[in-house]
Amino acid sequence: MKNTKTCPKCESTDLVRIPGSVGVYGVGNNITVGLTAFSSVKVTRFLCCDCGFSEEWVEGQKYLDRIRKKYR
Ligand SMILES: [Zn+2]
Repeated sequence: MKNTKTCPKCESTDLVRIPGSVGVYGVGNNITVGLTAFSSVKVTRFLCCDCGFSEEWVEGQKYLDRIRKKYR
């Protein structure tokens, strides 16, 4: 979905990219990998505006590495 720019469910191309966010106390769409909000990893959401299907991506290899270290 992120790469094809097409919804895998209905094949619509009417997609929006919703950036992740990190607020105080870690609120927002993110994954916590440390003790503070500063070490949270943002999760970007792709949403199909036709059928409502959504997909979430962590963007950036350094963030993936952080999550791998914590959860493996
Ligand atoms: Zn769709």
